Amino acid sequence: MSIINQLLDGYHQFYQSYFVGSDAHYKRLVKQGQSPKVLMISCCDSRVAPETITQAEPGDIFTVRNIANIVPPFTEDHGVHGVSAAIEFAVCELNVGHIIILGHSHCGGIDALLNGIPKDSGFIGPWMKIVAEAKRHVYTDHSNCDHETRGRLGEQYALQISLDNLKGFPFVTERVNQGKLTLHAWHFSLETGDLCALDEQDQTFKSLRQKG
Ligand SMILES: [Zn+2]
Repeated sequence: MSIINQLLDGYHQFYQSYFVGSDAHYKRLVKQGQSPKVLMISCCDSRVAPETITQAEPGDIFTVRNIANIVPPFTEDHGVHGVSAAIEFAVCELNVGHIIILGHSHCGGIDALLNGIPKDSGFIGPWMKIVAEAKRHVYTDHSNCDHETRGRLGEQYALQISLDNLKGFPFVTERVNQGKLTLHAWHFSLETGDLCALDEQDQTFKSLRQKG
């Protein structure tokens, strides 16, 4: 079966699940509008689909995906900033209660940052520079680690940088201080399926997976 036919098969199943019936899911979402409680900022990586990992339904999470799940710094340069626009809309218009930045193992963007951006790349290099400090951390503090460990540490440092950048958005910090918004940095392992969350008390990632 071609990939297009496979996708269309999936679409037909989706149509039956969400559109057919008098009280169909989408009819309610159109009538009531969307009111997701969560903004998820995740990587473009095809293996890390937030809705699959969390088993979320349409309408549950507002999502923005980019290379290496990066939050750019807040800026008032009146430039064109797609990720920042999504954050603004989710926080100020949808009033989400949580923002989750979802990183993952074997991230190609972080691997490029640590091991070399392709020379003919016009866009990836400047984008990854946002988290360049993660590379410095890895090679300064963990230069003896193996390739895989360096990758994971790079992914986790980059998540911390993105979380700090998120706190630089005034409307985010204002709502966090009011107790209306909670920020999370998660890291998903492709090998084990483990999902870890950053504990800001000790700056370590702790597993969220229920044992057993
Ligand atoms: Zn990635």
